[in-house]
Amino acid sequence: MSAWLSRKVSAFTIHDVDGSEAQKEAVNYIAKEFEVSTENLRTIVKQFNEDIDKGLQRHGATVAMIPSFVQGRPTGQEKGKYLALDLGGTNLRVCEVNLLGDSKVTIHQQKFVVSNELKTGEMRHLCDYIADCVDSFLTENGSDKLDSDLQLGFTFSFPVNQTAINRGTLMQWTKGFDCHGAIGKDVVIMLQDSFRRKNLNVNIAAIVNDTVGTLMANGYRDPKSHMGVILGTGTNAAYYEKMEKILKWDHGEINVPEMAVNMEWGAFDNERRVIHLTPYDNKLDRESINPRFQIYEKLISGMYLGEIARNVLLHLIDRTLLFNGLSSIDLNKQWSFETAYMSTIEADATQDLSDTQHVLESILAIPTTTLIDRQIVKKVCEFVGVRAARLSAAGLGAVLSHCNKVEEGCTIAIDGSVFEFYPNFADNMMAGLKELFGDQIENKVKFSLARDGSGLGAAVIAMMAHNAPKI
Ligand code: ADP
Ligand code: MG
Repeated sequence: MSAWLSRKVSAFTIHDVDGSEAQKEAVNYIAKEFEVSTENLRTIVKQFNEDIDKGLQRHGATVAMIPSFVQGRPTGQEKGKYLALDLGGTNLRVCEVNLLGDSKVTIHQQKFVVSNELKTGEMRHLCDYIADCVDSFLTENGSDKLDSDLQLGFTFSFPVNQTAINRGTLMQWTKGFDCHGAIGKDVVIMLQDSFRRKNLNVNIAAIVNDTVGTLMANGYRDPKSHMGVILGTGTNAAYYEKMEKILKWDHGEINVPEMAVNMEWGAFDNERRVIHLTPYDNKLDRESINPRFQIYEKLISGMYLGEIARNVLLHLIDRTLLFNGLSSIDLNKQWSFETAYMSTIEADATQDLSDTQHVLESILAIPTTTLIDRQIVKKVCEFVGVRAARLSAAGLGAVLSHCNKVEEGCTIAIDGSVFEFYPNFADNMMAGLKELFGDQIENKVKFSLARDGSGLGAAVIAMMAHNAPKI
């Protein structure tokens, strides 16, 4: 093993990577660029805590801290049939949720594709399309003949300024959506209008952020659930906040001890004060449809990780340190290196890294790769993936310390493919929390995979909203 190999780069596990001195030096340099030291983590947590306070104090803060109007916790005894709709991820999903009590539930669902044309066209067309999808779902599932309105929980996972449980204006699009005629408008009213035009007996009882849905879905099974986190296409989190700490609350007197707050944490450090951005991140940001926004999200979530890794690979190719200097038409395309490929590559335990070879040569049409090339690609994925998990840990750490949950402990409900499938993501997050709070945190804080936030969670919220007095 060479000196380079035996050198421990903080936070990264070193595998055997052979190669020329220039290759080793380049990989080493990239490792440094992506490193988040324990000290960095602490600085980020401190800033995060300040931003949480700012967001709770006033409107318009970077970390928006949006009160969700969801008060009270589910008991698991809730019963009834509800609809749920999920917009904001990869697919549009329509669900019929049957709450059976005793933490039991059955869900029927159907997924619909939202084309790029719809994502960036007129909001009216998108709403009409959603209404058509709900209509076709109800026709197929035979639920359209009910006399009374069906109550629907609408998971709309974008920053929304809520003014009631079923009222909210869109503040800004994220994650590749950019429909005209939606920002500043009430999305519930727009969608309800489409339902009305199509004679659908469906009432939108609640607008739900997927983070709050995730928190409530997990709460239906585990009363210790305190926080809901998304690590999927995008990233965001929600948690129960004491009402008295939501200083900016201006929707009249309410007599509840706590409320779920949607943090909109993807915007954290848009000011670029504490997170170090590499040139690969800046390239991604500049070429995105929302430059200088959602900076934290861009370093963590599934929509972006592959693209950051791609930028690193192209840089190495251009320096003739990878693939003998040859790229491919596919790899040259923006977004072509999917985050799911990174999972495959990081999980590749074959001697000759043949799974990695498959991704590079069969899927991305790189003419030939050597074992050293494949080792380097694997390292690059690891750098990007480990950093994402460590930055996520900073966000979790900020909420845990803000809520005094470090000693007491809690369950953190997490949804999203990055958490579910990315190798070692959960372990790397927990390692970050241990560096911040000590080893005992592992016995206090539990990560719980909660897949059904936008189905079960949204249904529970629709039920609570429909039965509760309006605030
Ligand atoms: P959504 O956030 O859209 O509701 P997901 O949680 O499934 O849905 O997240 C989708 C994102 O996860 C996509 O950006 C995709 O690139 C990424 N992804 C899909 N499969 C994997 C995987 N196996 N490993 C890591 N990321 C993945
Ligand atoms: Mg989702």
